[in-house]
Amino acid sequence: MTADLRDFIRNRIRRDLDEGALEQGVVTRFPPEPNGYLHIGHAKSICLNFGVAQEFGGKTYLRFDDTNPSKESEEFVRSIQDDINWLGFDWGENLTFASDYFDQLFEFAKQLIVDGKAFVCSQSAEEMRQSRGTLTEPGRDSPFRNRAVAENVDLFERMRAGEFGDGAHVLRARIDMASPNINLRDPVLYRIMHKSHHRTGDRWSIYPMYDFTHCICDALEGISHSLCTLEFEDHRPLYDWVLDNININFHPPQIEFSRLGLEYNVMSKRVLAELVDKGKVDGWSDPRLPTLAGLRRRGVPASAIRDFCQRVGVTKQDNLVEVKLLEFCIRQALEAQTPRVMAVLEPLRVTVTNFEGEDEVLDAPWHPKQPEMGIRKLVFGRELFIERSDFNDEPPDKFKRLSPGAMVRLRYAYIIRCDEVVRSASGEIESIQATYFPDSRSGDDTSGLKPKGVIHFVAASNARRVRIQSFGYLFRTPNPKDIDQDFNDNSVASTDGFVESGIAQAPDAHVQFERTGYFYRDSSSSEGLESDAIGDSLIFNRTVSLRDSWKP
Ligand code: ATP
Ligand code: MG
Repeated sequence: MTADLRDFIRNRIRRDLDEGALEQGVVTRFPPEPNGYLHIGHAKSICLNFGVAQEFGGKTYLRFDDTNPSKESEEFVRSIQDDINWLGFDWGENLTFASDYFDQLFEFAKQLIVDGKAFVCSQSAEEMRQSRGTLTEPGRDSPFRNRAVAENVDLFERMRAGEFGDGAHVLRARIDMASPNINLRDPVLYRIMHKSHHRTGDRWSIYPMYDFTHCICDALEGISHSLCTLEFEDHRPLYDWVLDNININFHPPQIEFSRLGLEYNVMSKRVLAELVDKGKVDGWSDPRLPTLAGLRRRGVPASAIRDFCQRVGVTKQDNLVEVKLLEFCIRQALEAQTPRVMAVLEPLRVTVTNFEGEDEVLDAPWHPKQPEMGIRKLVFGRELFIERSDFNDEPPDKFKRLSPGAMVRLRYAYIIRCDEVVRSASGEIESIQATYFPDSRSGDDTSGLKPKGVIHFVAASNARRVRIQSFGYLFRTPNPKDIDQDFNDNSVASTDGFVESGIAQAPDAHVQFERTGYFYRDSSSSEGLESDAIGDSLIFNRTVSLRDSWKP
């Protein structure tokens, strides 16, 4: 994991270490708001924050930014912890919540008031909006800006005591309404919110804003490098202003890097929450979602996501990454260690007319290149299933699979020849009659026959029913703008097929169906998508195809 990575953040950290500027070593934090599940964009930030701390022998706080009780919950706190652990990172004892610091934050705010650097503003939200100005025009001072300190202190205490209704007053920093940076135009530091908090209950009726909270928590925890995404660049002067104007002797540098975007996806908890709440997807772990819970349920291993984040890298350029890169990382991660079996997803029945008596049990490796993974038992018999697309009764030139009169090898078994096509009254192909060559057994072939192709099969007596769920992209356009219009309504397809019954002994929930792709046994129990065995059939989610063969 600790490849010698080079990017502008790691270079900066190396420089700081060389200059002896970090008394406490490298200390980072990942600061999620518990208002939704984590997505792959968060994974980039997690890999960066935990990654640099590991590489430079430092530590990382998991700090929940729980300053807005209206959207936050314990469920989200739990899921975020689970997802970070699953991704392979551990904060150890360094688990904190912004709400742990509510008392200190309140005292810092009071200090600002006493120093004449903050005031209680009683404008309505609409009045504040109208006097804020624009990018080209300065804002106008609030009529409450010059309230006496004693009155401000009194009002702020009473806001805390719950005397006023939501929106009656806010606490604002007293900076500069003419600043070219709108974030510095007397920003709100506290608002009244009569809302129970998942950790502090009803103790508070005012809650601090992110911009006030975040920098102070960073300073209190001794964060050496406060890494955040580019949209916070314009907030950096406020981050610095707060720390410069309160009595605290530590001032972390805020350093911004680009957000991860992924084609055909949205990377915002707010939008993902909307999809979940509207029932457009099957909860936060829907396998189509870019959430870590969704990717996990789809069968994406954590190592693939770490590899992906590393390949995307850390820059100052916002980017929309191709889904193909993620798929490449998934195949890479699964290739070497995933057991393989054969599954027929669109079955066509084959009767081997010259096969008599007991079924034959053959040996096949779980993985052709990993002998230590051992052997599975494979059955060959009179009734078989092959893939419908592996038969063509009017084969194009160079068709290497089965067609009338042609021969093909069945993987790990025998060569067969198609003798006859059985059709229904309406002309549909119903089944194939074939002959097999007993001296052509794989690994022991003395037949001298040279079929052009090899196809997979499942013997009827050895077939376990499977339902396969395949997924298209969540949105129809690479960079979706309109959540409703761009949503892909046809992004789940189910097919019923057969898999070798030996799958029950497979050493892993990840499996490769030979020639088709990687799949993951879905044992989740939520409703909506098929999520458990139907009758005796097993549910598998298609993680990724072997090639780019499946089109939504
Ligand atoms: P969202 O818009 O999805 O809610 P957020 O930034 O509001 O994102 P937070 O919970 O505040 O969500 O994010 C925690 C951390 O993850 C922040 O430091 C944020 O910068 C980082 N982060 C969020 N989205 C991305 C992304 N797409 N790429 C990289 N880092 C991200
Ligand atoms: Mg946020």
